[in-house]
Amino acid sequence: MTVKPRRQMSVQFSGGEPTLSPYFLDSIRYARDIGYFAVQTATNGLRFAEEPGFAQQAKDAGLRMAYLQFDGVTNEKNAHRKIGNLFDVKLRAIEELAKVGIDVILVVTIVNGVNNDQVGDILKFAIENADKITVVSFQPVSFTGRDEDIDDESREKQRYTLSHLAHDVKNQLGVSEPMRDWFPLSALGPFSDLVDHLLGKDADWGSMKCGCHPNCGVGTIFMVNKQTKEMVPLTAFLDLEGLLSDIGSITDASQGKAITIAELSMSLLKNYRPESAPKGYKFADLLKQLLSQTGARGGKIGDYEDDAVEFPWRVLFVAGMWFQDLFNYDFRRTEMCIIPYGTQMGEISFCAYNTGVGWRNIVEKMLANASVADWYRKHGRHPVYAKGQDLELPEYFNPITAKIDGQPIKLKVLNG
Ligand code: SF4
Repeated sequence: MTVKPRRQMSVQFSGGEPTLSPYFLDSIRYARDIGYFAVQTATNGLRFAEEPGFAQQAKDAGLRMAYLQFDGVTNEKNAHRKIGNLFDVKLRAIEELAKVGIDVILVVTIVNGVNNDQVGDILKFAIENADKITVVSFQPVSFTGRDEDIDDESREKQRYTLSHLAHDVKNQLGVSEPMRDWFPLSALGPFSDLVDHLLGKDADWGSMKCGCHPNCGVGTIFMVNKQTKEMVPLTAFLDLEGLLSDIGSITDASQGKAITIAELSMSLLKNYRPESAPKGYKFADLLKQLLSQTGARGGKIGDYEDDAVEFPWRVLFVAGMWFQDLFNYDFRRTEMCIIPYGTQMGEISFCAYNTGVGWRNIVEKMLANASVADWYRKHGRHPVYAKGQDLELPEYFNPITAKIDGQPIKLKVLNG
């Protein structure tokens, strides 16, 4: 299969655990070779922690972001994954990924009454280690697969929505306002249009654009000072609604680049509230960081992909995506899906692929070229971790530098 993209998209390799595939590095290389710049992998982090040098190989192949499954900030809060020292393992993975410049995105599945009390602690961890972690993505539980058999009472108790998330962030962190600071992901669309306009019609690539249904995804942006760990919601000092509305008009006016940038600067000044901005925060950095996040800084997309080190303030994006299940399925959401699987049958919405009978079962059966047993015979069986045993890690010479409450973290396995 060959792909020739024109608009930038995030390409994410998922699984199972994609790092187990013998084609993992080649796939990343291919995605970069054909021009995608936001190349990501979903991962449990085990291989990055267990194999010294693997993060560097992934970086050299072109991996930009790791979506790291992350359930809580202690080994106990990760115990349900059946590895006794799983939090320590995640810390080592984060260390190795960050060391080579791969952005770490913490991905947290939230179940009401099970781990929603971890929202604040996970965000505090991300803020404190904002030099390594750029995004926290919360994914409220979706009752699919074997969870479809859940009884009504348990389902209602465990149901968690994006509104719960916005309120838990405020209640547990003591910062942010649900009605002021959270936006549908698609609200950023005008910004992509502006970037397209600035790059011009002859650009090799269109910018990334996210147009999902407002019930699917929401996000908020915190600015975090790398030194002091001070954290302020961007929308506390920037009227984002006003800015996005201005950007729509500026792009529609379709003026030349110099006038467009002058109009944009005026709009930013109009919507910027310096009295609420953190001390020492520079307006110019805000502009550069926003352009960099969309890949539009410089002459072409991706020119400044490693520029985060330049800024004293880091952007921490907190997002939520509420994957559907059969109890709340909405075809309008599926039609607007921004997370399609690329399959031999064409693009299929993530929710349509995984929910109910699901396209996954159809596509995987139609195109299977080996049974699991055949695969194990040919490639060997990957290790299975169970019974809460600790995972032994190799000896590393660089220590874990992530901290909690300003203190180094005491690891369970000393050589980890
Ligand atoms: S995967 Fe697609 S349809 Fe499902 S919640 Fe996300 S954007 Fe919506």
